[in-house]
Amino acid sequence: MPNADSTKNKTYILAIESSCDDTAAAVLDNDKTLSNVVARQAVHEEYGGVVPELASRAHQQNIVPVVHQALKKAGITKEDLSAVAFTSGPGLMGSLLVGTSFAKSLAMGLDIPLIDVNHMQAHILAHFIDEEGYDKPQFPFLALTISGGHTQVVRVDSYFDMTILGQTLDDAVGEAFDKSAKILGLPYPGGPLIDKYAQSGNPKAFKFTKPKVDGLDFSFSGLKTAILYFYQKEVAADPDFVEKHRDDICASIQYTIINILMDKIKKAVKQTGIRQVAIGGGVSANSGIRKALKDAEAKYGWKTFVPKFEYTTDNAAMIGIVGYLKYKDENLQGSGYIETHAKAQSRLKF
Ligand code: ADP
Ligand code: MG
Repeated sequence: MPNADSTKNKTYILAIESSCDDTAAAVLDNDKTLSNVVARQAVHEEYGGVVPELASRAHQQNIVPVVHQALKKAGITKEDLSAVAFTSGPGLMGSLLVGTSFAKSLAMGLDIPLIDVNHMQAHILAHFIDEEGYDKPQFPFLALTISGGHTQVVRVDSYFDMTILGQTLDDAVGEAFDKSAKILGLPYPGGPLIDKYAQSGNPKAFKFTKPKVDGLDFSFSGLKTAILYFYQKEVAADPDFVEKHRDDICASIQYTIINILMDKIKKAVKQTGIRQVAIGGGVSANSGIRKALKDAEAKYGWKTFVPKFEYTTDNAAMIGIVGYLKYKDENLQGSGYIETHAKAQSRLKF
């Protein structure tokens, strides 16, 4: 059983996230974030994408100082912890292994529960972190998870009852941003730069056709090819084309991507009758999608939920809130979500 400190009525969860190229640790006091530390790995920039082997090695260097800093910022010691939560997937295997082994060892050493968390579920449940000025969605709601690795429309009926209604058949939306940026010669990750330049450009300057995909699924690889052909054709005619029209090109790419996303959300709302829409994942930092959702509130009477900026890209606070919700839910204890020391030991036997 969890050994929550009943005298103070505190549940301190240490959360660890290492699924891709950010080493992150956070401490939550119930559903409030006390600290949320992220060490971004600059090593990948010169390669134009994440190099898995370099990511695992950087996680190994970062994990101890990052956890140490998260505890220090939270003003607690490891002995105060009630449980350790960690990202068990999806993600890069080598990267996940570093966080998993660390979390497992720490929980065993402290003899406290170890809670495994799905990264995509965490992007959605980040909306339940208690933050001033941020409302929490009511069940059921629709979630659009948009990141560097995923694009999903999810129906959320309760914290742990989620159904994927549609997802990308090829590239994720973050990849569409990053690969388009790469074609234009912008550094990795290009998503935030496209967003920045788009703000001073004309979104209707250039037209890119939207893919035709059935149902609530997405496809972004055709858009990437269309942008490549557009680039090759224009640059052949004028080598300075990109420099001259950078803002308009970025605004037009962003406009097309946002339209693709909004078309599918509108369809999902129509199909399910649910008019609450929450977004999560790195691309939810995008100003275009944030504005499109706010406009939809006024236009279609939806209620939309956009996470606080620090909970959009990979972070451990979102892992912590899932950890807390599982820890608190007695029905989930013993159901495989929470591992006790004894259970973890028996697992290590094989
Ligand atoms: P993953 O967990 O799949 O690695 P993240 O949740 O960390 O992905 O999100 C990273 C992705 O978000 C990158 O593709 C990045 O370009 C994209 N991104 C971040 N900020 C923005 C923005 N303002 N506009 C568009 N894309 C963005
Ligand atoms: Mg992510």
